[in-house]
Amino acid sequence: MKPEVTYRFSELPLDGRAMRVADGVYWVRMPLPFALNHINLWLLEDGDGWTMVDTGIGGEKVRDLWESVFASTLEGKPVTRILVTHFHPDHMGQAGWMTGRWKAPIWMTQAEWLYARHQHSSDPAGRFEAAEIFYRRAGVPEAQIPALLQRFGRYREGVEPIPASYRRIFGGDEIRIGNRVWTIIIGEGHCPEHACLACPEDKLLISGDIVLPRISPNVSLFPQEPDGDPLSRYLACLDRFAHLPEDTLVLPSHDTPFTGLHARIENLRQHHRHRLDIILDACAKQPQTGLSVMKAMFTRELDSLQLGFAIGEALAHLNLLWREGRLIREAGPDGVDLYRLA
Ligand SMILES: [Zn+2]
Repeated sequence: MKPEVTYRFSELPLDGRAMRVADGVYWVRMPLPFALNHINLWLLEDGDGWTMVDTGIGGEKVRDLWESVFASTLEGKPVTRILVTHFHPDHMGQAGWMTGRWKAPIWMTQAEWLYARHQHSSDPAGRFEAAEIFYRRAGVPEAQIPALLQRFGRYREGVEPIPASYRRIFGGDEIRIGNRVWTIIIGEGHCPEHACLACPEDKLLISGDIVLPRISPNVSLFPQEPDGDPLSRYLACLDRFAHLPEDTLVLPSHDTPFTGLHARIENLRQHHRHRLDIILDACAKQPQTGLSVMKAMFTRELDSLQLGFAIGEALAHLNLLWREGRLIREAGPDGVDLYRLA
């Protein structure tokens, strides 16, 4: 059987160093304090300076590593632009520090910048009530809800203060970086308006968290939009990569650069179709809750952070089927939503 993806590099960049992966493109790997323990960031030669894509999680450790990268890689030229794919802490964390360090602007899509500003500045207490209702409706036992609420309101812990101004980018924008023109492709479902960068001529794609080689990107329902359908948005956005050459070198935010973009996208679609089938089978036997569906989808042991993601994923799959009219959602006498076949 043809391998789904081919990893293109057998070595990883060393801590505090960058590794060249294409003409003018350098790979930096920074640590993360999670089960997913690293993130990939990119430095692009840009004339008299450098464009950075994503910044790493907040805190001194990553800042110190960046200083080593700057000393070893930038050849005395400054970072002149900080492009951030999306608002998540591992991508956005150092953006505020970086823009001060280099006096360079942050380039982002509007929804991602607004989310970052909102998450950083709003009082998390206001979000707990919506989250409590959300988990109760999903069938999570009362005693387990407080642990799940902990992840809300922690954004600030991993993200340096967000600057009050930015340069807005749009899907379809063509951005000249050094000798290349990159086109912005918007990814959805993992976050509201994720920027990916594609250069079909040179067969390069900075895919961020939208296409990863090994794990499927988290596509979750969140308490602020309980009737949302992020999974449909995610699956639809994968079509936007169809025109890219098969041998495109994909530069993902996690794991290592690979080729086999279209096979991987097909595999991601299959993965979600398979999960939708599991849910339909379960609902055919008896009405299901968000929690029972989560247990059918994830059989391994989960910590409370992973449990939050897993419930969000289960509900994202349920909402796709509910919004398509294939499932009926009704609240039971205890207020827990029950899903049954239409
Ligand atoms: Zn992300």
